[in-house]
Amino acid sequence: MSWSATVLTLFPEIFPGPLGVSLLGRAAARGLWQLRVRDIREHGVGRHRSVDDTPAGGGPGMVMRADVACAAIDAALAEGAEGPTIYLSPRGRLLDQARVRTLAAGPGVTVLCGRFEGLDQRAIEARQLEELSIGDFVLAGGETPALALIEACVRLLPGVLGAQDSALDDTFSENLLEYPQFTRPQSFEGRSIPAILSSGDHGRIARWRRREAEMLTKSRRPDLFSLYESGKH
Ligand code: SAM
Repeated sequence: MSWSATVLTLFPEIFPGPLGVSLLGRAAARGLWQLRVRDIREHGVGRHRSVDDTPAGGGPGMVMRADVACAAIDAALAEGAEGPTIYLSPRGRLLDQARVRTLAAGPGVTVLCGRFEGLDQRAIEARQLEELSIGDFVLAGGETPALALIEACVRLLPGVLGAQDSALDDTFSENLLEYPQFTRPQSFEGRSIPAILSSGDHGRIARWRRREAEMLTKSRRPDLFSLYESGKH
């Protein structure tokens, strides 16, 4: 069975979006992964299929109801949704490439996209949702984070990237940012491609790239660089 992503959202029309084009779209068409999108509103309550209500204790905005969110999760799991159930939230643990790698190696993910002021805490606890954030900023909803999470996982699935697009050199693969990339033309607005890249000496090129990656990581991401340094020993 192929890797499967199930998305629970109030805005199913957002999907597949970028997941339906290029390498990822072709990989889905080839059966390497599958996307299921379910509308949380189908589990809304009352005549208006309400999914939210005012925050207990007062305050601005609305909160997604626990009963509605859990009904949507339960229905998806009963239909065969795979993997850990993730709630995308700016309060979550920061998503990183290591977590992406683990998720891509599993059967898939089930992702709940929040809206409003977020989700009733009882749903998070009752369904033991894993809270993941895509960065220290606040978006209007969990759909963009869901697209990012799924895209990051799918490009690591076997057969999705061609050999030419290997993920091995990617930024973060060894706690290093990637070295600078160049392509034709040889000269652009007075700037030339570093001569070493045209030398044909693959050993020297590999050493140059590693040095560049190390320098870049050290100056931009000292946190990553110390992980890289400790991993070397
Ligand atoms: N009031 C919430 C807070 O301060 O934590 C923010 C709610 S936000 C406006 C609405 C939804 O967007 C969240 O429930 C979550 O699903 C999603 N979201 C916003 N920023 C996110 C981020 N950085 N990572 C993951 N999900 C995010």
